[in-house]
Amino acid sequence: MSTPAAATGQLIVVAGPSGVGKGTLLAHLRDRHPDLRVSISATTRQPRPGEVDGQHYYFVSRAKFEEMIAQGELLEWAEFAQNYYGTPKRPIKEAIAAGERIVLEIELIGARQIRESFPEAKQIFVLPPSVAALEARIRSRGQDNEPAIARRLAQSKVELAAADEFDYQIVNDSLETALKDLEIALFS
Ligand code: 5GP
Repeated sequence: MSTPAAATGQLIVVAGPSGVGKGTLLAHLRDRHPDLRVSISATTRQPRPGEVDGQHYYFVSRAKFEEMIAQGELLEWAEFAQNYYGTPKRPIKEAIAAGERIVLEIELIGARQIRESFPEAKQIFVLPPSVAALEARIRSRGQDNEPAIARRLAQSKVELAAADEFDYQIVNDSLETALKDLEIALFS
């Protein structure tokens, strides 16, 4: 007896320095493509004003996060600006098995882990128009204190140096152009 071929979805990684506008781009992309799923990460960072648990992130304690690591519940995880961030494994496996496209919006270390475990995943990197523009965006967000801003800026230089590792590089200057480029990368 033959079994039908399993439906296979697609895993898409969207990386790029903090503050580059990955979240905004993905929110617009989902408006245009409601069938696209975006993974909800777990993090130990404090919620920012307006962030909702279970919607923007699963906000968990360090002890809980470490338990998730120990139980093998995360597809990838990393420490970023003194907090843990990670992708819960089960929803990703389910989405792929159901033939869906699912996007991970993650930082560099996690993107590298996915490259190892899912070499077929599409890897997209979002660049700022310039380092000065990135710094201005991080500051204007006004949601981080000065030490947190400094950590994010230092990390952004490391991330920018790794842009060439990715299959696609998209410059987030004009939103409309960046969205079109993202669509080309996603659906090509
Ligand atoms: P933020 O604190 O600004 O929400 O996120 C900080 C950085 O962590 C961003 O670059 C974001 O893309 C990344 N990030 C968010 N969720 C995850 C995750 O599940 N895994 C990894 N590796 N990075 C994540």
